[in-house]
Amino acid sequence: MELWLDHLGQIWWASLSRETARYVVFAVAIWALLWIVLKAPLRERKIRQRSPAARQMLVEFMISIRSIAIFATVALAQSLMSRAGAYPLTHFALQWGTTWFWTSLLLMILGHDAYFYWTHRAMHGRRLFRTFHRRHHRSHNPSPFTAYSFDLGEAAVMASFVILWPFFVPTPWAVVSLFVVHQIIRNTFAHCGYELMPATAEGRPLIDWLTTTTHHDLHHAHADSNFGLYFTWWDRWMGTENPDYHAAFARAAFRRATPALAEAEPGLPGEI
Ligand SMILES: [Zn+2]
Ligand SMILES: [Zn+2]
Repeated sequence: MELWLDHLGQIWWASLSRETARYVVFAVAIWALLWIVLKAPLRERKIRQRSPAARQMLVEFMISIRSIAIFATVALAQSLMSRAGAYPLTHFALQWGTTWFWTSLLLMILGHDAYFYWTHRAMHGRRLFRTFHRRHHRSHNPSPFTAYSFDLGEAAVMASFVILWPFFVPTPWAVVSLFVVHQIIRNTFAHCGYELMPATAEGRPLIDWLTTTTHHDLHHAHADSNFGLYFTWWDRWMGTENPDYHAAFARAAFRRATPALAEAEPGLPGEI
């Protein structure tokens, strides 16, 4: 029994270390790259002129480590379930070749986008917001460290997708790992404070079906719209896209070209 508990502890610790390293590598790297190394050249692309206080980012970092502990616990549960044979579809998926490998990654991203949109909207309901989602919205002016700044309930909801999806869709474990990397990169860029999507001559996002940093920044400024994570279509289908989105994107993308708009910001910067 003691040996078994020891073994569980080792798996949990390995998972915690792996997830923390992944988070630190991406969040810290994106923060250091955009907010320090490229600060001057990207000056015109900063969505808000005011940066969040260092204290806000420190709190977000600490809360993110707590979220990662939840993810590690879920990963431990998944590892045990897998060993117990609870995921037979992952073995079939391995035999279906390269085409299915990449198709299953695309399906997992599409599935997560829908899961995120609807669970996110549910967490904005009056009854769930206080216990599930308030922590994330304490960051009115997001930073790259806001990405995993979750209440415990929200961290569990987010982690549950990775538990549930391979039950229903044949997905190799390597695809699950790639999905997690894609998720943390997109999530961190959504909160990075700089609009990096190229703009068309009319000031529209070059790829308008992908969400941009401005899209999610508006959600932190006005929490009643822009619930999507990777793609803009759910907000458009459901009529929840912020009506100021394209104007706010153009302001962020063309700040230099339209100095009169230089002071315009999508929302009021707040304190944590
Ligand atoms: Zn956010
Ligand atoms: Zn929200």
